[in-house]
Amino acid sequence: MQSSSPKYIFQHSNPKPLPAKSIFITDTHIHELYPNLFKGTRTIVFRPGEEHKTQETVQYITKELLQFEAHRKTTIVGIGGGIVTDIAGYAASTYMRGLPFGFMPTTLLGMVDAAIGGKNGVNYGLHKNLVGTINQPGFIIFDTAFLETLPDHEWSNGFAEVIKYACLFDSALFDELNRNDIRYYRNNKEALNTLIQICVQWKTKIVNEDEHENGNRKLLNFGHTAGHAIETLYHMPHGQAVAIGMIIACNIAEKELGTDASIGQKLALLLSKYDLPATFDFNVQEVINVLTMDKKRNDTGIEYILLKNIGEACITLLSFSSIEQALVSTKNGSNH
Ligand code: ADP
Ligand code: ZN
Repeated sequence: MQSSSPKYIFQHSNPKPLPAKSIFITDTHIHELYPNLFKGTRTIVFRPGEEHKTQETVQYITKELLQFEAHRKTTIVGIGGGIVTDIAGYAASTYMRGLPFGFMPTTLLGMVDAAIGGKNGVNYGLHKNLVGTINQPGFIIFDTAFLETLPDHEWSNGFAEVIKYACLFDSALFDELNRNDIRYYRNNKEALNTLIQICVQWKTKIVNEDEHENGNRKLLNFGHTAGHAIETLYHMPHGQAVAIGMIIACNIAEKELGTDASIGQKLALLLSKYDLPATFDFNVQEVINVLTMDKKRNDTGIEYILLKNIGEACITLLSFSSIEQALVSTKNGSNH
């Protein structure tokens, strides 16, 4: 059953002190960057990085919540990037079988993707997001003032997901992104706000149609199948790996669906405007090995998200051999 949608608040204000009644969860970077924000609040702080997205961190948060005497009426607010909001949502969903919670995403990736959709959880060893819940936050506050301190590579990370929505659903957005570049949006608050709202609308629409990923929500995995494998193998930032993954998917579509080579070429050009790569010297066999362990595989292959055209996507069951061929051509840069 679809749980109720969160309330969205869009603002651009230098973050003001937070209300004392709630309990906040954040990472040490955000805590140090915005000291006034957390003054006088009950805040739980943990160390940033994927290696801390674990049950141990959730246990630490649980201990702190107890110490703060959190109860069923206490609201938990996760303030940070995707790691913080994923953990905060999970800790809030499991403590006393669930407290009200909301998010203030502080990265572009968090605003356009990670904070939306109700997936919360932690990693287990090398298995990303193996343990978790689907539970929608009560509210999400999108405050673009946070982005003023965001490092360069985090901007590109977020733009990989923005480009993903354009490829999947919105050719007009693709054209708009093509007319501009990463510097334009970083320097133009209004355009950035509009862009974030468009992405939020796309993700919300898909999640509302298919909260539990039985159908159209799978489309959001575009670029993420080979992308995740490359991210894990080469410790590459998520956005860069997804960018390469999207190009691999275009090469597969050319062979499997007979789509035009120009789609991948246009995408490669667009990626370059957002400081994202289109090729990478990966080891094909290593990537195939990781893909064969993918939790989304079945006996014959993997459901792959392919573009029929820019703004139009489909789900196709592919054999590992056709994926392997496309990996070879991406690696050699034969098409682009
Ligand atoms: P995401 O999954 O959204 O990329 P993470 O939680 O992995 O986010 O955060 C990426 C890194 O960026 C972390 O080190 C985090 O502390 C840092 N970070 C998050 N928001 C900001 C911000 N507004 N300014 C500077 N650094 C930030
Ligand atoms: Zn992603």
